Amino acid sequence: MKIKLFLLFFAVLFSSAHAQLPQRSIAITIDDLPVVVKNSDLKTRQEITKKLLKHIEKAKVPAVGFVNEGKLYNGEKRDEAEIDLLRQWIRAGLELGNHTYSHLSLHDNPLEKYQAEILKGEIITKELLGEKGRKIRYFRHPYLWTGLSLEIKSNLAQFLAEHNYTIAPVTIDNSDWIFARAYDNAIEKNDKGLQLKIGEAYVPYLIEKTEYWERQSVKLFDREIKQILLLHANSINSDYFDDVAAALVRRNYDFITLEEALEDEAFKLPDKFVKRNGISWLHRWALDKGSDFVLPNEPRVADFVLKAAGMDSE
Ligand SMILES: [Zn+2]
Repeated sequence: MKIKLFLLFFAVLFSSAHAQLPQRSIAITIDDLPVVVKNSDLKTRQEITKKLLKHIEKAKVPAVGFVNEGKLYNGEKRDEAEIDLLRQWIRAGLELGNHTYSHLSLHDNPLEKYQAEILKGEIITKELLGEKGRKIRYFRHPYLWTGLSLEIKSNLAQFLAEHNYTIAPVTIDNSDWIFARAYDNAIEKNDKGLQLKIGEAYVPYLIEKTEYWERQSVKLFDREIKQILLLHANSINSDYFDDVAAALVRRNYDFITLEEALEDEAFKLPDKFVKRNGISWLHRWALDKGSDFVLPNEPRVADFVLKAAGMDSE
């Protein structure tokens, strides 16, 4: 009897704790399509795509995938097997956007070259979306590097608008790509123990980051805005995205489209950030108000993951 009462107490405590969570919304964006992985043989790329899409469909996430079309060619020739990976995204009812042809750096190239890469990087995606009567709408800057001067930013913004692109910002920025690099290294070394350890640290890390950005949002806006999460089409997400989605649902998140997320008033604020690093739009807006608005203690990647990724620091 005492045990039953004890359990009931915890059941009530848990359900009331969940009921007190705010209703939250998040759009999920996935970069570097069709796949970004160390071992780049076709079979691996097909498996990653299949597993990742299965998770996305199961969790009913209306994700947007951002494509580097350079990966869809073998020299000058179209690589139909790679293009088929993208077709699977479209068949799953998902939206595709432009991430430049070759993941070009805006900081190290003239704007004209960058613009040419945007146009070169939309050809096949437009074709595939067109087959379904749909249009390409979103652009995501590689590395989230948006320009080192207000002049470059506004010229690029004008170019994107002229070509009917909406910039896809990111609020829940994170280093899933470092975890992916560590994970791929462990797979390559056939170190199953390390692979599992990295995988099991990954979801708690992402949720800690999410909590940080929720708090940063409250500090800036006195409320939690509709969030936009950036992940990559890599092997760790193909193994763990179902757990990521479930953890977000437990935090009371609804999965919304990027279009719905961008309806949040917050995204009307300008992005005036002109430094080199690619950072969350929440930090861009915070820095614009003054460095006091930047929430301290942003969660970092654990040392053992950095080490496994072959990196000294983030
Ligand atoms: Zn990218």
